[in-house]
Amino acid sequence: MPNRSYHELAVPHVLSKGVYEPGKPIEIVALESGKDAASILKLASNENPLGPSPLGLARAREALGDVSQYPEDSAWFLREKIAEKRDLDPAEVIVGHGSSGVIEMLCQAFAGPGRTVVTGEHAFIAYKLFTLQQGAQIVEVPLREFRHDLEAMLAAVRPDTSLVFLPSPNNPTGTANTAPEIVAFAKALPEKVIFCFDEAYAEYLDDPVDLRPLIAAGRKIFCTRTFSKIFGLAGLRIGYGYGDRELIRVLHQVRPPFNVNSAALAAALGALEDDDYVARSRTVNREGLTQLYTGLKDLGLDYVPSAGNFVLVRFEDSGKVFQYLYKDGIIVRPLQGYALPDHLRISVGKFDQNRRLLDALARGAERGFAGA
Ligand SMILES: *Cc1c(COP(=O)(O)O)cnc(C)c1O
Repeated sequence: MPNRSYHELAVPHVLSKGVYEPGKPIEIVALESGKDAASILKLASNENPLGPSPLGLARAREALGDVSQYPEDSAWFLREKIAEKRDLDPAEVIVGHGSSGVIEMLCQAFAGPGRTVVTGEHAFIAYKLFTLQQGAQIVEVPLREFRHDLEAMLAAVRPDTSLVFLPSPNNPTGTANTAPEIVAFAKALPEKVIFCFDEAYAEYLDDPVDLRPLIAAGRKIFCTRTFSKIFGLAGLRIGYGYGDRELIRVLHQVRPPFNVNSAALAAALGALEDDDYVARSRTVNREGLTQLYTGLKDLGLDYVPSAGNFVLVRFEDSGKVFQYLYKDGIIVRPLQGYALPDHLRISVGKFDQNRRLLDALARGAERGFAGA
């Protein structure tokens, strides 16, 4: 007779980690609320409101005809393209199923029992989940006015620290550190610590910090980027990391075979050529942020100015506001998992979508967010 539960049989540190809680998908909300899927507005996952890059989408459609074939495992053409665009060598680039897939490989290779990983308290949660999954310990350093406190992070580095994660702009706070701050931090870290700089929102910045010269100079730095955000390909799961070629060779030791599908590889190639779409996305985002700031201010709400495509907003009762919006067919992101229970994260939409959100908040405020 079976007498052991699967939980007892699991490797303990696998269970020590929480499970990632994504924003609610539109299909599920439609099912639960009985609303038409087309009427639901999702501003919960920092997706591009313009939809996928048209050039990327066209290339993905072409690739679908060949899906009886395994994908090209080394992502050769995409690495060539990234290298050309970013002035890197293809051997300095590795591709993963989302940049979280790349971050997972980094943790598999460098985090483990007896090691610590340093990041910020309200940093993107994947660092913590993948660290705990490897049986390493996470050290979460408090932020300062919602920004990563790089001095405190430096002080938190211990002899057993193998990795440090810094996202800038950070999700969910939207805050960025300045280029001089980040460069000084990278230079001050001990030589044996690998600094992972997460650039998921770099394309939204006017002047993103460039750590390539430090990588070339031999600093232990690994940068990650994604096709999920400005390129609008979140559903295809593709991202990349770049760093020293020896580091990339180590990461290939843990990379699962065929870790990126052929439609995603093709779409990413197209998206990297879609300069018009990227420019339009930036404009829509900049205007959307201004629109949201104005609207939130009019409602007397506190928000954290954002360098990304989303805003952190503080409410008296965020749970009530979440429910109110949800019943109105608007999905935003609760942040209990990020230890920010008073805040909701709201992704920037197109003009009419932002208007709908602000109108719903105004109506809700009048009724104390009771019922929708
Ligand atoms: C969205 C996001 C990612 C990327 O996720 P993917 O796995 O590439 O979809 C990485 N880092 C941060 C900070 C993010 O917000």
